[in-house]
Amino acid sequence: MQYFIYEPFRLKSNETEAIFLDAIKKTIKKANLAGFCYGVKRAVDLTLDIKDKNPETKVYIFGELIHNNQVINQLTNLGIITITNIDEIQDGQNSICIIRTHGATPQDIKRIKEKGCEILDTTCLDVKKVQEKAKSLIQEGYKLIIIGKSDHPEVVGIKAHAEENTKEEALVLATEQEALENIDKIKSAKKIGIVIQTTQKTENLQKILPIVAEHAKELRVFNTICKTTSNRQTEAKNMAQEVDLMVVVGSKSSANTSHLSEILCEITNTILVENEQELEQYSDMIKNADKIGITAGASTPEDIINKVINFIQLKGE
Ligand code: SF4
Repeated sequence: MQYFIYEPFRLKSNETEAIFLDAIKKTIKKANLAGFCYGVKRAVDLTLDIKDKNPETKVYIFGELIHNNQVINQLTNLGIITITNIDEIQDGQNSICIIRTHGATPQDIKRIKEKGCEILDTTCLDVKKVQEKAKSLIQEGYKLIIIGKSDHPEVVGIKAHAEENTKEEALVLATEQEALENIDKIKSAKKIGIVIQTTQKTENLQKILPIVAEHAKELRVFNTICKTTSNRQTEAKNMAQEVDLMVVVGSKSSANTSHLSEILCEITNTILVENEQELEQYSDMIKNADKIGITAGASTPEDIINKVINFIQLKGE
């Protein structure tokens, strides 16, 4: 962890310079694991590099590269086009299409290739491992369960890769409730294999696993939460126990960021903000906290985290 000890001293208007009164001490701690993870950094670097080397070529990204508006705007300003529909690709023969860290379904990759595009695949290597593990479980005859949100692009991709060329259907469970609603499917499976969305909370696995285990005849579990996510959650949880207020910086649409916030809320006062402007509404909480911890999601750039820290220092005066 990095420690910033911020000690503004207030001088009463009628005192001389030599006498400092009403000293205020606010401690701000920044987590070591705040900000870009290796997967996001790799995707951003590869994207900037390919545009730099191909200035005249149209470069598309299928889906937002990362959950951060500032970065998306910077990429747009460089002429890199974010699309949500493959039909938006024009002149595919002279274009490059980037697959983001979450990955894409084999069907979408095929359609992009049919457009004639060259593909730059920045799927995080940890996500690729889950795709491969899920696929091999189905091929070995396991009923595949993916713990994660069914509409999250990473989960959509894992499911589609696993089901490719089979008639088997994977089951996606986000909550204990969903596990209970699917108990018949769990009971009827000869053997069950489980993988987990890379940015899930460990707590979710701990809640869903006993329900499946109780009814499974044979069970294999692969904890595929990526190390970056689990280490970041552990560091933030430890930090939350020592401070009065945790500030999580990142997009509310980012799974790993919102999971961080949910976990920390149960330990101490926690606020989730996308940038320093959003902190304005929490001025009182900041003023009243002596010790503040800062962490951030995997897609939050360093300069946004630093602006948040500067803002907190100013508000602490
Ligand atoms: S959070 Fe984990 S899985 Fe996702 S991009 Fe980063 S390292 Fe890869």
